[in-house]
Amino acid sequence: MSRRRNIYEGKAKILYQGPEPGTIVQYFKDDATAFNNEKKGTILGKGVLNNRISEFLMLRLAEIGVPTHFVRRLNMREQLVYKAEIIPVEVVVRNIAAGQFTERFQVKEGTPLPRSIVEFYYKADELGDPIVSEEHITSFGWATPKDIDEMMALALRINDYMSGLFAGIGLKLVDFKLEFGHLFEENGEARVVLADEISPDSCRLWDIKTNDKMDKDRFRHDLGSVEEAYQEVARRLGILTETGDGDMPTTEKAK
Ligand code: UDP
Repeated sequence: MSRRRNIYEGKAKILYQGPEPGTIVQYFKDDATAFNNEKKGTILGKGVLNNRISEFLMLRLAEIGVPTHFVRRLNMREQLVYKAEIIPVEVVVRNIAAGQFTERFQVKEGTPLPRSIVEFYYKADELGDPIVSEEHITSFGWATPKDIDEMMALALRINDYMSGLFAGIGLKLVDFKLEFGHLFEENGEARVVLADEISPDSCRLWDIKTNDKMDKDRFRHDLGSVEEAYQEVARRLGILTETGDGDMPTTEKAK
């Protein structure tokens, strides 16, 4: 790992130059941040679990025809992805009111929304990731109207698919955040692909029966049992077996 070039270190991941041109290695850390970096901490084993959970979801989404940057998982904490030029917009899909939405619109947490809402936020920590409209996105040149149409359509398909997938394992998909990028094909054409990760860091997941939060909100609001919640999501997805090799976020002996 020491010989590899560190391209970028983010809050929860490190990106290294990949083994082949046009690839990147995503290394998943245990570090967690919330409230625009005001709160910092560690969720033991999170990196291992998010690597597996995101791999699982990206592969399932690819099966239904969603283009993604994912190539393959390399080891416990790393996955190989295509190097996409990230569109600096976070796409949030909401099914149930939670988080900052409840304050912005004074809607009680847990209120089902009449239809799924797609929102865009400009990725800029120094500005606190402000909510933006399509007009901002096109005017500032962050993405074209066609890119926005594709991101919207993909986000809604991903929402339908993942809502069903999580409902099947007793979890409500309350909301989630996606990132997209442009991937340049050999013919020079750019395709919009799903990038970054999908994990309990970027989704709100509530137990269908108890409404228990099974995601990063446990860390954000000091609800306890944070590691256990991430493990439970992985277990329900069938990624963690009782004795299988995935069941060792703290030992990592297979690394
Ligand atoms: N989210 C994320 N990264 C961000 C902001 C939000 O992954 O920088 C996810 C968050 O986990 C939740 C959804 O996007 O599942 C909606 O988050 P919200 O806008 O309610 O922000 P919050 O209240 O969490 O700050």
